[in-house]
Amino acid sequence: MRAKYHKHTTVLEAEVGYRPSFIWRSLLSAQDFLNRGLRWRIGNGDSVSIWGDRWVPAAPEGFIVSAPCGLPADAKVRELINPDTRQWDTTLLAACLDKEMEEAVHSIPLRDTTEQDIQIWASSRNGEFVVKDAYRCWVEQENKDHGRTVPDAAPVWKKIWKLNVPPKVRHFLWRFAKDSLPTGVKVSAHNPRWSDRCPFCDQVETQAHTFGDCEWGRRIWRPSPTSVCFEKKVGEDCLAWLEAVIDEVELNLLESWSVLLYYIWKERNAHLFNGFKMNELEIATSAAKLLADYQLRQEKELNLQMETPRKVWTAPPTGRIKINSDAGILPESRCCSKGLSWPIPLCSG
Ligand SMILES: [Zn+2]
Repeated sequence: MRAKYHKHTTVLEAEVGYRPSFIWRSLLSAQDFLNRGLRWRIGNGDSVSIWGDRWVPAAPEGFIVSAPCGLPADAKVRELINPDTRQWDTTLLAACLDKEMEEAVHSIPLRDTTEQDIQIWASSRNGEFVVKDAYRCWVEQENKDHGRTVPDAAPVWKKIWKLNVPPKVRHFLWRFAKDSLPTGVKVSAHNPRWSDRCPFCDQVETQAHTFGDCEWGRRIWRPSPTSVCFEKKVGEDCLAWLEAVIDEVELNLLESWSVLLYYIWKERNAHLFNGFKMNELEIATSAAKLLADYQLRQEKELNLQMETPRKVWTAPPTGRIKINSDAGILPESRCCSKGLSWPIPLCSG
């Protein structure tokens, strides 16, 4: 299977590939769940990307949720470790991360920086993967993702997790609602060398400014069908803004708006950190394409699962045992289930 589907990557990074078998697709359906449950335990920090890997236990889904700052976007965690003291470089942490992330990293104990980094199962005490524990996590995650339980979850969270948009957009929207995006105001509060000004118009940069008031942003969303969502902004409270949109607009418009918000932020970062500037029409078009491509892939995946032919079970020859494999499809999540079962039927004869 490795030779056919993931010769040059680990199974956690593998892609579905050309003409995947049913078993391979079933196994890959567990990939996202496994990736979400694994965390890097830091040793020397050589293998772990600061902004690209899951390694901060106190951060949402283990990721650093502030934009790359002070170090290259692909910098490794070893850059944050003082080679002399073998402890976190507190000056660098303060320069590269917002206050919340700085504290989250600082609370991670550094054990032995001469050892390799390893991946552990986050929810078990000793870091080992145990099927029983993984199943419990999976059930909790499914409930959370689909808003079935979680008694204190506000409707806004349930709606976010139900959106048929790429997971990175859902994650972005969650940060938007929490007002935790590293805007000029947020970063400059912890780093005096950082400007609190918008990179496009030199006004004070808050989330409400970037996505609602900034003339650069307005040129992107004004011609869009989602402009009605942008116009619902009142004041600086992004959660209230999101709640107003969720309550009053249709789901497909909400999904388009979410992706356009994500793209505005993405292009703002590309301009700020790389000096790159797309024109407004390209940004709106790219956002629409991202959503259309994602939803088409989801639909194809669902159809593939539905079209898998059912075989009629037949009894094995006398003296032999037949092992059946099985996987299911969850209509709410529109993906196949994350496990296989192996019942052994008793056959007469
Ligand atoms: Zn601006």
